[in-house]
Amino acid sequence: MGAQGLNTKDAIIAYLRSKSTISGDCIIFAPQPSMRYPRVYTTFFKRRDRIHCLAYKLIVGPIRKQLNHTCDNTRCWNIDHMYDGTQKQNCNDTIERSRRIYAEGEDHTSSKLTNEQRSYIVKAYDPLKRNGAALGRMFGISRPAVRYIARRGR
Ligand SMILES: [Zn+2]
Repeated sequence: MGAQGLNTKDAIIAYLRSKSTISGDCIIFAPQPSMRYPRVYTTFFKRRDRIHCLAYKLIVGPIRKQLNHTCDNTRCWNIDHMYDGTQKQNCNDTIERSRRIYAEGEDHTSSKLTNEQRSYIVKAYDPLKRNGAALGRMFGISRPAVRYIARRGR
């Protein structure tokens, strides 16, 4: 499976959008229904990439470790639903995330922030300065949510 001529970031994003459906917060790539991790070849990267890796590389940057989903949908390419880490971290984060959602409710998650706001928090948060609450007030989220974003963004 492939789309020829995917030689710019904009062309790839446009292609992914045109082939995807929205389900809740997830952006799900529809082609290759038999594959758990659909792939597509792009001229831009000169290789076949998994859809979620492709989106991450285009929107966020190079993958350093292993790209994991925080949602349960392997076909989802919403970059807010992925992070770059090891499998072990994945398990720990899943437990932590469940605890956090249980303790605070879904509305304290980072989903209402823009990418710019999130990267601002990642850069600005400093545990030694204890500025989590101030950052939280700035963006209308809780202090644990600030910590969660900062940790995930590292
Ligand atoms: Zn998702």
